[in-house]
Amino acid sequence: MNPEEFRRVGHQLIDWIADYRARVAEFPVRSALEPGAVRANLPKNPPTQPEPFEGIFSDLEEIILPGLSHWQHPNFFGYFPSNGELASVLGDYLSTGLGVLGLSWQSSPALTELEEVVTDWMRQMVGLSDSWSGVIQDTASTSTLVALICARERASSYSLVRGGLQGEGQPLIVYVSQHSHSSVEKAALLAGFGRDNLRFISTDEKYAMKPNALADAIQSDIERGLIPCAVVATTGTTTTTALDPVDAIAKVARRHNLWLHVDAAMAGSAMILPECRWMWEGIESADSLVFNPHKWLGAAFDCSLYYVRDPQHLLRVMSTNPSFLQSAIDGKVKNLRDWGIPLGRRFRALKLWCLIREQGVEGLQSRLRRDLANAQWFAEKVRVTPNWRVLAPVPLQTICVRHEPPGLEGEELDKHTQAWVERVNSSGGAYLTPATLGGRWMVRVSIGSILTERQHVEALWNLMRREAEED
Ligand SMILES: *Cc1c(COP(=O)(O)O)cnc(C)c1O
Repeated sequence: MNPEEFRRVGHQLIDWIADYRARVAEFPVRSALEPGAVRANLPKNPPTQPEPFEGIFSDLEEIILPGLSHWQHPNFFGYFPSNGELASVLGDYLSTGLGVLGLSWQSSPALTELEEVVTDWMRQMVGLSDSWSGVIQDTASTSTLVALICARERASSYSLVRGGLQGEGQPLIVYVSQHSHSSVEKAALLAGFGRDNLRFISTDEKYAMKPNALADAIQSDIERGLIPCAVVATTGTTTTTALDPVDAIAKVARRHNLWLHVDAAMAGSAMILPECRWMWEGIESADSLVFNPHKWLGAAFDCSLYYVRDPQHLLRVMSTNPSFLQSAIDGKVKNLRDWGIPLGRRFRALKLWCLIREQGVEGLQSRLRRDLANAQWFAEKVRVTPNWRVLAPVPLQTICVRHEPPGLEGEELDKHTQAWVERVNSSGGAYLTPATLGGRWMVRVSIGSILTERQHVEALWNLMRREAEED
């Protein structure tokens, strides 16, 4: 495709996406297709001859669109929001269109330096001190893996230059909350700690990690001759947006020289609101933290920010320096390949830069405040309605609810919950994610799509009542 063809079809493609965003509310939120239905409509073999690009537009309409669940839909209340603000989408196109890679500073100086600037903007926006340095990773899963590898290497005085974990005399132990995200457990396993050396610390009635239980677990491991290595606290857990007490956990961590990583994948965005910053009080005592602007904030997926207090340690763990990547100015610049796992780096900073510039900090703040207010409105409706319950505190934009008709308990209640949420989802009118809490099914209502206004939240509540109560 030459630049002139690109210009012609590209305009069409932008129009198509703009139309999609303009009409997204007309689609059923969750795709109604059966497994295999999309595949069945696509040729088994690749075309041997070139095809006109226009064919792609009709396939998009007829085959791809019906196979989508629409995350940018105003009635999307599933998982957590993953907002792609259109300004940020343009930044992502730029990244792809420029087609540059940041293997080293030299390989594209602006790529590295814009990333330094926007991660520092974000640092200021969430109220972190200037002792933090940030880098963009793909996902929180990767950021947490990097954090636990760094923790492992600090506790083992750089075992990787010797026998690695396999050469260590005593197992290193990682502490996480019972409510931490599955990616935390996965990171601990991938970093080589082993499931036997993972401790799931119990939580209180608000689903937050109990610092005393953490201290007890550490003590008992020390008594057994094991080596406590790291603790992961979560600001905004995935099931209920519970807030682990970072300050109290940091005190325990410091006493035993543990690495403290804070997973604020979702809630980190809320820290652009000064009134939310109590939620991670103590954050300045952490060693590393992650949050995802690709969730609520509006950076097009994928864009996860990883901040550390000791970049030298990160470099020592992550850096490799093959001759073809060395350059004369290496001492004066950042080589971001040494700040994470992949060598090749997309120009992800562009989409964050476009987002922040086009929205302004105040624009982003007011959207998040709108969503927080909608969540409080919704929680109050549920609380005052007979047979409905809010099951966890609502510090952010996610509400955990259950409809509990008199006489229904245990598995009967689970069946009722799963049945009505499935009716809501298959109606196409909204998308909700059920989850278990304390061993019983409940429904998460996660507010915060860009297009979601009060009227959508009201319509959701009416739909939920209709499907649950008319059983
Ligand atoms: C979403 C989420 C994750 C995982 O995020 P990815 O970027 O998809 O890896 C981890 N932790 C928490 C608390 C989350 O909400």
